[in-house]
Amino acid sequence: MQHGSHVEPMAQTLAEKILSITNQSVSRCYQCGKCSAGCPMAEEMDYTPNQILRMLQLRLADLDEKVLKSKGIWLCLACETCSTRCPQEVEFPVVMDFLRHESLRRDMVHPDAKKILAFHRTFLDSIKSTGRLYEIGLIGGYKLRSLNLFQDIEHAPKMFFNGKLSILPHMIKGKDAVERIFKKINDLEKNNHD
Ligand code: SF4
Ligand code: SF4
Repeated sequence: MQHGSHVEPMAQTLAEKILSITNQSVSRCYQCGKCSAGCPMAEEMDYTPNQILRMLQLRLADLDEKVLKSKGIWLCLACETCSTRCPQEVEFPVVMDFLRHESLRRDMVHPDAKKILAFHRTFLDSIKSTGRLYEIGLIGGYKLRSLNLFQDIEHAPKMFFNGKLSILPHMIKGKDAVERIFKKINDLEKNNHD
């Protein structure tokens, strides 16, 4: 432990990080509730969109933690209904996107959201390796990651015979451009958290 005049810097609150990384100020929200009234997922969420914003506005460490551990941030569909209705031009889907990244980075993902995360990861793996969605790879990868081995299995034969599932993946032209996008995103994320 060090003595003397050294003072540890205070940890940034989520509201501050959101402002510096996404340029969204949660202080702009005046709690009219229009976002939550229009949100198609609000009833399923543990905290509604305006409640999440209120928790962030209070800039308290325990509320920040509750937000990052909430299930609601993983249920957002990024449909943008909330931001379209907001009289204060708060881009709430951008805030939600940041919160999911931060929740993941701090290992605070809600247990019920693990399957959603498994789906996102498998989807991105597919895009990264072939440049487009490879359905059988997506299904197999999701089932392995989520251990939901028999979910919707009865639909597979029908999809296969209707030509919706191809055995082999199709590569796109210009896959190197996709690789560059992934690399750029990785670099940006690394810089944002350094
Ligand atoms: S609509 Fe905008 S101002 Fe109203 S509660 Fe939602 S984020 Fe806040
Ligand atoms: S973007 Fe997310 S939070 Fe906003 S209305 Fe759609 S589902 Fe709800």
